[in-house]
Amino acid sequence: MNIPNTLSLQRYIMSSSRMASRLIRWYLADHRPLPWRETRNPYHIWLSEVILQQTRVDQGLSYYLEFTGAFPTVADLAKAPEDLVLKYWQGLGYYSRARNLHAAAKRVVEEHKGIFPSQYELIRTLPGIGPYTAAAVASIAFDLPYAAVDGNVYRFLSRLFGIETPIDSPEGKKQFQELAGSLLDRKRPGLFNQAMMEFGAMVCRPANPACAGCLFADECVAFRSGRVKLLPVKGKKQAVRDRYLYYIIYIDRQGNTLVGKRTGKDIWEGLYEFPLIETNSPSDTALPEITGRIAALSGSNAVIRQVSPEIRHQLSHQLLHAVFIHVSVPRLPAVNWPGYFVCPAGELEQYAFPRLISRYLENGESMSFT
Ligand code: SF4
Repeated sequence: MNIPNTLSLQRYIMSSSRMASRLIRWYLADHRPLPWRETRNPYHIWLSEVILQQTRVDQGLSYYLEFTGAFPTVADLAKAPEDLVLKYWQGLGYYSRARNLHAAAKRVVEEHKGIFPSQYELIRTLPGIGPYTAAAVASIAFDLPYAAVDGNVYRFLSRLFGIETPIDSPEGKKQFQELAGSLLDRKRPGLFNQAMMEFGAMVCRPANPACAGCLFADECVAFRSGRVKLLPVKGKKQAVRDRYLYYIIYIDRQGNTLVGKRTGKDIWEGLYEFPLIETNSPSDTALPEITGRIAALSGSNAVIRQVSPEIRHQLSHQLLHAVFIHVSVPRLPAVNWPGYFVCPAGELEQYAFPRLISRYLENGESMSFT
């Protein structure tokens, strides 16, 4: 089998520019009809790009529809309270994205009179907008010639050209960005970028790519050399840190509980939670000490009613081990928990909780005094 090397294939594709035309033709015929594909509204395109980072399209779609329904314009998002924005974001994770969205919307209103900037450099200055998102918005909304390289594009290009440079290394990022830029259809950059991303998502998938019917099967270096499963190459994984969280769900006779807002530069900043004790020890060794501390913080008539099994919750670089401890008290010991406030019965729903906690509550765990 005559396997073209990476360089000759690059020359072939770049000199002919056939790749872009074939890809765009495929995209126009076969792409998924999604609402952010039917608009040139930069605010909506930006929203979709932020929501879809680290989120599957089927899950992101409902968030996109709810967000655009609640905040139809960038000005609506800017003037919304942060708690409300986080409430709409609840369940998506990576909450810094929502806070940055909100901050960027305010900046658009304050510095650009509510009109989303139409220059790449200005888009790039908005909070939370990196090179990828700026390129996606600039190209799709304004037809500016910037290549948007997301995970789908990295995978597709690394296989097509047989590139083994780790995609998460600085060298790899530069190499793939330059390659995508050299392939970009400068007359139709928005269409080209969407076609690249869609092709990576739908055809050159992470697992089981559809190589047999792929329109690049004849040229694809990975396919022709049997290296599809080996590409793309990723660098070393960051170590996962274990954290042990003990949430105390106080309930008084009226069904009130204590709730506080997370502050500081940690996970879930700006979200709400129950009083928390965090340790470095797993529940099987730490629980006796934890229950002793709860007794000291809760008053003599407090009764521990229920201790949940340990619930595991995976974040990108942290594995959380959570235990929920239900404690009945005649009076909420708010004085021992600075920063926490009394949340009346039935009002918990108003607050945005991390997915770990909202899932626990959705499971119908008892919130009654006895
Ligand atoms: Fe991806 Fe397979 Fe097509 Fe190569 S042949 S571009 S690996 S789907």
